[in-house]
Amino acid sequence: MAAAESDREVPSALCTEFLNFSVKDTASKWLQVTDLYKEVYHHLARYVPKIYCLGPNLNPQSEDLLAQMLLQAPLEWYLCGEDPSTGLAKLEQNNQPSQLCGHVFKVGEPTYSCRECAADPTCVLCMQCFLGSVHKEHRYRMTTSGGGGFCDCGDTEAWKKGPYCQKHEPNISDSCQEDPLAHLSTDMIARCYNVFSVVLKYAVDMLTWDKEDELPLGLEPPDRSDTYYCMLFNDEVHTYEQVIYTLQKAVNCTQKEAVSFATTVDRDGRKSVRFGDFAFCELAKSVIVRNTSRQSKPLRVQVMHSSVVAHQCFALKALHWLGHVIGYSDALRRILCQVGLERGPEGENSSLVDTLMLCDSKMWKGARNVYHQLFMSSLLMDLKYKKLFAIQFAKNYERLQSDYVKDDHDREFSVTDLSVQMFTVPSLARMLITEENLMTTIIRTFVDHLRHRDLQGRFQFERYTAQQAFKFRRVQSLIGDLKYVLISRPTEWSDQLREKFLEGLDTFLELLKCMQGMDPVVRQVGQHIEMEPEWEAAFTLQMKLTHIISMIQEWCATDERVLIEAYKKCLTALTHCHSGFADGEQPITLSMCGHSVDTIRYCVSQEKVSIHLPVSRLLAGLHVLLSKMEVAYRFPEQLPLSELSPPMLIEHPLRCLVLCAQVHAGMWRRNGFSLVNQIYYYHNVKCRVEMFDKDLIMLQAGASMMDPNHFLIIVLSRFELYHIFSSADCRKRYNRENANKDVVQQNNTLTEEMLHLIMMVVGERFEAGIGQVEGCDEIKREILHQLCIRPMAHSELVKALPENENKETGMERVIDCVASFKKPGVTGRGLYELRPECAKQFNLYFHHYSRADQSKAEEAQRKLKRQNGEDTALPPPVLPPFCPLFASLVNILQCDVLLGMLGAVLQWAVEPSAGHWSESMLQRVLHLIGMALLEEQQQLENSSEDNDVYFNFTLKMSRPGEAPSNTASVLALLENLQNAPHLEVHEGMIRWLLKTVAGIKTMRERSASTSTVTTSGSRGQEETACDKDKAERKRKAEMARLRREKVMAQMSEMQRHFINENKELFQQSLEELDASTSTSLEHSPASSDAALACVGPRRSRPREKRQVVTCILCQEEQEIRADGKAMVLAAFVQRSTVMSKNRTRPPHDPKRYDPLFMHPDLSFGTHTGSCGHIMHSHCWQRYFEAVQAKEQRRQQRLRVHTSYDVGNGEFLCPLCECLSNTVIPLLPRTMGSSSCEQPGLGQWLKTSGQQIKAMHSAHRKLQPVSTVEETVEEECPVPEVFTVDYIPTNPYSSTIKEMLATFGTATYKVGLKVHPNEQDPRIPIMCWSSCAYTIQSIERLLVDEKKPLFGSLPCRQDDCLSSLARFGSACWTAACQPTVQGHFIRLLAALIPDPQVEASPCILDVDMLHLLVSVVLSYGSVHSQDSSGLSVDAVQLHLFHLITVAHMVQILLTSGPEEVTMEQESGEAERGEEEGACRLYNTLRTHVGSSLPEVGSGWHLWRCVKTGILPYLRGAALFFHHLHGVPAPPELHALCPGQWEVLCGYLSLPSNLLQLFHGQQELLEPLLHGWCTHPGIQQTLQGGGVLVSFPRESNSLIDLPDDYSALINQASSFTCPKSGGDKSRAPTLCLVCGSMLCSQSYCCQTELEGEDVGACTAHTFACGAGVGIFLRVRESQVLFLAGKTKGCFYAPPYLDDYGETDQGLRRGNPLHLCHERYRKIQKLWRQHSITEEIGHAQEANQTLVGIDWQHL
Ligand SMILES: [Zn+2]
Ligand SMILES: [Zn+2]
Ligand SMILES: [Zn+2]
Ligand SMILES: [Zn+2]
Ligand SMILES: [Zn+2]
Ligand SMILES: [Zn+2]
Ligand SMILES: [Zn+2]
Repeated sequence: MAAAESDREVPSALCTEFLNFSVKDTASKWLQVTDLYKEVYHHLARYVPKIYCLGPNLNPQSEDLLAQMLLQAPLEWYLCGEDPSTGLAKLEQNNQPSQLCGHVFKVGEPTYSCRECAADPTCVLCMQCFLGSVHKEHRYRMTTSGGGGFCDCGDTEAWKKGPYCQKHEPNISDSCQEDPLAHLSTDMIARCYNVFSVVLKYAVDMLTWDKEDELPLGLEPPDRSDTYYCMLFNDEVHTYEQVIYTLQKAVNCTQKEAVSFATTVDRDGRKSVRFGDFAFCELAKSVIVRNTSRQSKPLRVQVMHSSVVAHQCFALKALHWLGHVIGYSDALRRILCQVGLERGPEGENSSLVDTLMLCDSKMWKGARNVYHQLFMSSLLMDLKYKKLFAIQFAKNYERLQSDYVKDDHDREFSVTDLSVQMFTVPSLARMLITEENLMTTIIRTFVDHLRHRDLQGRFQFERYTAQQAFKFRRVQSLIGDLKYVLISRPTEWSDQLREKFLEGLDTFLELLKCMQGMDPVVRQVGQHIEMEPEWEAAFTLQMKLTHIISMIQEWCATDERVLIEAYKKCLTALTHCHSGFADGEQPITLSMCGHSVDTIRYCVSQEKVSIHLPVSRLLAGLHVLLSKMEVAYRFPEQLPLSELSPPMLIEHPLRCLVLCAQVHAGMWRRNGFSLVNQIYYYHNVKCRVEMFDKDLIMLQAGASMMDPNHFLIIVLSRFELYHIFSSADCRKRYNRENANKDVVQQNNTLTEEMLHLIMMVVGERFEAGIGQVEGCDEIKREILHQLCIRPMAHSELVKALPENENKETGMERVIDCVASFKKPGVTGRGLYELRPECAKQFNLYFHHYSRADQSKAEEAQRKLKRQNGEDTALPPPVLPPFCPLFASLVNILQCDVLLGMLGAVLQWAVEPSAGHWSESMLQRVLHLIGMALLEEQQQLENSSEDNDVYFNFTLKMSRPGEAPSNTASVLALLENLQNAPHLEVHEGMIRWLLKTVAGIKTMRERSASTSTVTTSGSRGQEETACDKDKAERKRKAEMARLRREKVMAQMSEMQRHFINENKELFQQSLEELDASTSTSLEHSPASSDAALACVGPRRSRPREKRQVVTCILCQEEQEIRADGKAMVLAAFVQRSTVMSKNRTRPPHDPKRYDPLFMHPDLSFGTHTGSCGHIMHSHCWQRYFEAVQAKEQRRQQRLRVHTSYDVGNGEFLCPLCECLSNTVIPLLPRTMGSSSCEQPGLGQWLKTSGQQIKAMHSAHRKLQPVSTVEETVEEECPVPEVFTVDYIPTNPYSSTIKEMLATFGTATYKVGLKVHPNEQDPRIPIMCWSSCAYTIQSIERLLVDEKKPLFGSLPCRQDDCLSSLARFGSACWTAACQPTVQGHFIRLLAALIPDPQVEASPCILDVDMLHLLVSVVLSYGSVHSQDSSGLSVDAVQLHLFHLITVAHMVQILLTSGPEEVTMEQESGEAERGEEEGACRLYNTLRTHVGSSLPEVGSGWHLWRCVKTGILPYLRGAALFFHHLHGVPAPPELHALCPGQWEVLCGYLSLPSNLLQLFHGQQELLEPLLHGWCTHPGIQQTLQGGGVLVSFPRESNSLIDLPDDYSALINQASSFTCPKSGGDKSRAPTLCLVCGSMLCSQSYCCQTELEGEDVGACTAHTFACGAGVGIFLRVRESQVLFLAGKTKGCFYAPPYLDDYGETDQGLRRGNPLHLCHERYRKIQKLWRQHSITEEIGHAQEANQTLVGIDWQHL
């Protein structure tokens, strides 16, 4: 029904009323009145319903025109007090625009942010400002805008540096912030104020109006007509398809209309779907509601009175108008802001702006967009009112957010999305915190929305309903707001800010308290858990808060007072969470190694434990700050240090770490994946900073305040290992203990984990505040340890490093200190490699390594050391000293309990009993000993004389173990282990330890005796001769081992390439047997003496040899013989436009198209390629049948698709999996009979003329009318030796004949896109054409790749060309002979006029190489009936010469005017050619006349001929070479000068080609005359057709800009060509022709062969004959398409500075064109490998097969 009423007539009565309307009078009247409101409302009430909404379609053009005339014009007049055209111009002139750019971004437009200068990542520049700014020289990030938001150029708060671009740089003259109103007269201000008040009020009234059938007071229409709209509103619940389906039912429209409705609803938020009386609309409404209410809440539909809709339409128009008018002057903008924010009659929060905001969630999308836009261009652009607006926004914050949470529109359509524009301005954020308590408000609003709590008041996300989950997702945007507010740290604090921040912190701690201990887990024993518990919500919350928590710590770090208060508050909160150990935990006393400690009885493996401890972790963070800022030392009295209970501090973090250890040990298997996932995220780079890292810090903090022995006993107890290490004879434990293998295994892992934990507690000192390090040392160390695993790309490193709230890792500052960059090649990406000098800082037990990382790093580092010939031990690195607050931690290394544990493990290692001990355990113990020794060594080295070193591990380790057992000392055990055969791997490490011990002893002795001696030279001296010898032997053994490894690696490499090797083998066997194929020519200079010629009677005849090949399927050898079993090559035939010079030629009608002549524009061709793999035809048939059968089964069973289409004859080569769709039979070379005297041109022309006549009459007789008569026609004396009815015997075996038909049919089917038909006369033509096209494309490729004509092609292409040429010369035997003869006759008639052939093409419309190939290959059918001894070679040469002359004529005709170049001085030899060219050209001019310009320069003409004809000659050489197998002269195997002469010689041509003509001028003149008088010549030369000039340049892919953002910008202004100016969602660029397309979208689908396809697929059929190469601009991704079902994505040719692509544009690094990669894509295209590439990609990645490529 929508289509029925399109353009309505404006009723004539209205017309006159409108004509009589005077803008000026109306405005003047308004200027008189006192109550403008009433007057304007009256006016609107009268006119609006007459202009808008008179028909079913809203918003036709005419409405806006009338509205401008009748409604806006008087307002403008009133505003200016004069004709607005002058008034507004004056305003604009006087305006002094602000420095803000304020450009509002379109969807998809590129935006730029400076990573060095932007205050935060939301500060962006538009492209124009960016290009004029200093930041383009900085490290910047480029992204595409999601729409909305504006350019921050000119905002001094947004940029640390360079806030202005060149354009927005302020003038120094107008420096002061003048009041913009100063320039306006008071009258003007008053008028402006009045009119804005009325209009804005009107708009607000209408947009917030919720009655469907009434209008606000004063707007009731004078005469009411009763028409209604059925208005459908958008929601985000129902899908496009649902809406379309429902609409078709409800309003009975077509699918197309329904799609258009749905699109509009989605875009504008509402759309009328029916217009008429109330009942009519109500009916549609009920159908829609009924149809959509089943699964979810129904679609929103309202039946609205047309006058209401009319006023709403104009209200939107009015807002647009306001936005437009304030654009003239900053003063007007300020007045509008004032009007908008003026408090209304209802008091607080009742301004018009407030009203709009508070109704936001009730409005439809279109209305919201319009008023948000107005806010952006008014309130947010005026610095004074931005602040006032921000205050109102903050006041309404809670309401707005609550509305948003319930609203179902995305955030980009919500007014809450404006928060980013205000909260990220540091001064505003600070003001809102202090004055509006914004921080508290945000957090409180957030907490209020998360109501689900458990009994302890903690969040509970279990059994979350979908609706709650939705709400949870929505409230997360509040965290985003909080982040904006906190993103810039204050540089100075006021008392008020302190107060409000701490108040906010209180609220925040309330939030964290609800998280502390949430989602607790209990170890499942016996049964596996039944249902995986919900864990993701809690982790989402944690992840979202991570940056907030970090930022709060950073805020605290900027003010000592705040830090102290925050620390106290946090401690109180923590105490509140864990008030003592009240949970019924029993106190116990544990003792060990002479120390005892009071603690509680608690087992992680039995009781509740939670991974969420944000309060503890925040406290840990603040504790480090106390140390870092030295508050702890300067104001200890202000800190609640006495309240700290270290055991309480460490308890929960320790439990959490033990939980991880137990999970590793496999004790929690029955708790399912949810726990594994939680542990994973706990350590993951996204969370660890505020989870794992802080737990470790808390242990460090706690331990630093405890007796190290006590700390270790508690650790042992929590690890549930206390009983093992505490028993007096623990060193022998396993002899007695029952041998439950699982338990033993668990305890082993737990011991390893515990030892690791101790290492981390003592060793992790790279956070400023814990160790004495610089800020960047930590990140350096992270990078170093990542690179110790392997070299990494920039993006991999970024992923492995934690990002801060600005998405920065800080990597760029330090990366060059630790790594060197290696550029990428044509594939792969750039890599960072660790600098060798950094390897010594490697710590095998780096706390952020996963176990997998650790073993990879260990392997890599050992390998490196071996390569450098070093000892492969990996001792711990030297560590920085602790800060004073943590200094006591080192004592853990020398405390009794630790030594007891070390001794125990060493003892177990001495006497290993099966399974009760592990090597990793020992490795860790050795590492710990190493750490202790290094600590001692460091302290000794750094101590001054008077400062004694208390740390004395060497002393402790020499003491025997504890009484009563009196066991060996740690040192003794080490010495004992040194030579233990079962510990060979650790030998290096133990040796290193003992050496260090000795070194330290020397140091101590020296400092004891002579305290002045320095201590460095102590190492290495005691290496005895014996040691050296041993080391030497070991190194040799090592070298031998390396060699062995290398050989093994080579072997496995060889095996992997077995198939490829095999391929080579096959080729080699071919070469050996057939010395004359092109591939072996380089090695056979034997034939080089005689001049080689590939065509003509004098052509060289290679000695015949047996040609034997091997079938890849059955591995049997087979000789190639005409009467033998057929051998075939796997081949792929495809249509191609790669060489097209005319992409506008419409596709042919496949049924009627006559392909005999190829036009020189080569607009469509058929390309044949092959992987070169040879099979028996019967083997291949069996294989193909098997593939077909398998495919049928597969489709039935799984409905999966394959990368190839069996139904279309496609298969994968059984050896190399290359996509193929047919096979070419291999044929033996044709034998030429070397005969005696051969006729000259004249003689031959005569003979062939007679033969043709004879054939004509013979063919005529074949016509159905007279079949009986056998008499030869009178006037035609046929040479006796030519028997027209002679049917030659077919030389080929039946299998070869079958294969001839197979390949012929396949080429015909693919080339013409028709159904196979073995009888079609066009089959041989298509085969010849494909042969010619393939030769031409290979010839071009060789030129483009700068390769010589012969010898550089891969074997597979040589084989393919040979078989194509030989197939071509044989294919007539499979076709009907008269048909082929008919082709020959028609082909020849294009050169030699034949009155019996009609409609011969003009020579400008014939591609000469195609003609040559076809005519030579079709001649066989004629020759077979000749028994005169005329040799084929002679005929071929005549044909060749003739066509060459024709081509020269063609070139001269199209040569174009002389270029203005210096005439070259040419040598004597060239003179002849130039003269000849001139003469031929002048002859042509006499025939053609004035359409050929006069050219005086022979030099120019000869150059045209020579360059123009070269591709043809090279193509001809390739053709004859492959047809006859004549080796090419060695000069053509290289790119040396003098090619021309050699080439001509090889082709039996004189090097002065003009002699071909002048030598036979009498014979050729008549032909020339015939060519030139063809009517087509004049027509084409005068511009009537496509004129192709020679040589044809190779086609290239389009030029791409160097900077990727230029493309993004180009795409952002691209609009969908079908839906009138809408932005295209997936703009996609065709790299072949440069068209931009609207891909992957309903709007641009078209029908192709009965199916709906996307714009790209449709385009490929027109532009690339089914094959397409595109760049998806938004995704930065290359798309290959082939046909409707095949496609793949390919790496784009754009790289960032780190040598990486950015598919999906996620990282935002600037991207630049990589020419090599683009050339690679171009090469794939030029060599017709796109389809093959897709096939390989799909085979490698099955998910690509399932994509609906045709919808792109
Ligand atoms: Zn800008
Ligand atoms: Zn700018
Ligand atoms: Zn910058
Ligand atoms: Zn076989
Ligand atoms: Zn193959
Ligand atoms: Zn479109
Ligand atoms: Zn294109």
